[in-house]
Amino acid sequence: MDTPRLVSLDREHLIHPVSSWQGHETNGATILESGKGVWLTDSNGHRLLDGFSGLWCVNTGYGCESVVEAGRRQLEKLPYATGYFGFSNEPAIELAARLTKQAPGHLNHIYFALGGSDAVDSTLRFIRYYQHARGTPEKRHVIGLQKGYHGSSFVGAGLTALPVFHRDADVPLPWQHHIPSPDPYRHPAGPNAEAIIQASVRALHDEIAKIGGPEHVAAFYCELVQGSGGVIVPPAGWASAMQAACRELNILFIVDEVITGFGRTGPLFACEHENIEPDMMTVAKGLTAGYAPMGGVFMSNEIYETIRDKTPAGVAVGHGQTYSAHPVSAAIGLAVLDLYEGGLLENGTRVGKHLATRLAGLGNHPLVGTTRSIGMLAGIELVIDKSAKTKPDPKLGISGKLSRYGYEHGILFRAFGDDVIGLAPPLCSTIAEMDQLCDGLVTVLDRVIADPAVALAL
Ligand code: PMP
Repeated sequence: MDTPRLVSLDREHLIHPVSSWQGHETNGATILESGKGVWLTDSNGHRLLDGFSGLWCVNTGYGCESVVEAGRRQLEKLPYATGYFGFSNEPAIELAARLTKQAPGHLNHIYFALGGSDAVDSTLRFIRYYQHARGTPEKRHVIGLQKGYHGSSFVGAGLTALPVFHRDADVPLPWQHHIPSPDPYRHPAGPNAEAIIQASVRALHDEIAKIGGPEHVAAFYCELVQGSGGVIVPPAGWASAMQAACRELNILFIVDEVITGFGRTGPLFACEHENIEPDMMTVAKGLTAGYAPMGGVFMSNEIYETIRDKTPAGVAVGHGQTYSAHPVSAAIGLAVLDLYEGGLLENGTRVGKHLATRLAGLGNHPLVGTTRSIGMLAGIELVIDKSAKTKPDPKLGISGKLSRYGYEHGILFRAFGDDVIGLAPPLCSTIAEMDQLCDGLVTVLDRVIADPAVALAL
């Protein structure tokens, strides 16, 4: 591979997702070349332990032969099949049947989208169809959480509540609202679980009242662990309480499991921790473990049947994409599901417990305010002053230092701004690999505090 040529062409032609265009031109890209297990190799031959599963998606690890073979066989047999005009394909049907069997509650139907943003976007369209079908079209407002991430389609970016997705983007739209994040570390109600839960339920009621009452509100959306907002794990009981509040208020409860699905938090779906039964649930990422693009919207019987029955015979429900239920992605999804069911979920749970123990030990580091984890998903929150929980000043450039030192020490993680390190290692990781990742993190953090400006601020 001619790295300088590729870096130069990348700089000139390729627009990268959610990145500083100027920064990208200055720094140039790291070109990833190959992967096996939890290890990536870049075009300079530098090996990296991938502690973030690509972008929280390669849950199986890289180079799984059964997955590659399933994709290859499907490409040979039938690389594409439309789902329009009454056509379907075998892998998509099998995948829909296997997934809905294991999905929570009455989520007996699935629409296959192209990724997570597109899955969320589809839910926003489906709830419009549903409210029209029920004869309640004025129920159009939706409520999400501050620090929530639901993708970057136009409407999804409005449901998202992270400043970078709103800047100059003319979102949120007037019918999109947000209530405070149930963040135990920074919640104004303090760290007490019951206080946070009560505050969230109250905030939902208050927001609905502000909008004009439940007759104007269609749905509440949440992630069960807020991923891109900084790996925020709500207190136990929070999701059940929010679901109960939604039922009482007669609004839909929609769960975004794009990150948390497919073993990331232990079970196949994070809903299983509290037997949550959402009205719709979005998935992507681990669905195909990143080997091909695919997302999904699980839909309850009630929503499906209402839209079906109230749409006049012969009239199409006008939502769809060329690549919905793509046979190659579906074949890959089936092979990936075999791996989850064949011991990968158990391995993730076992290794996740070790990761949690190692991370708890990191709490003593001068720069670490708190650590949190569930399964193979973790956050490390960095502070300059532990008792005041002061976030690092952006001028210290901690985010850039973390990424640079991480690369130099051969570990990959995600720096969210300057104050949270996110971890989401593949579920196939070994305990030794997690020790290597955590030892590497300590070295990286020690290097950060060795910087004179950071040392002075501490
Ligand atoms: N929802 C959540 C919770 C996500 O974390 C993401 C992606 N990180 C998305 C939606 C959007 O998924 P995609 O990037 O595949 O469009």
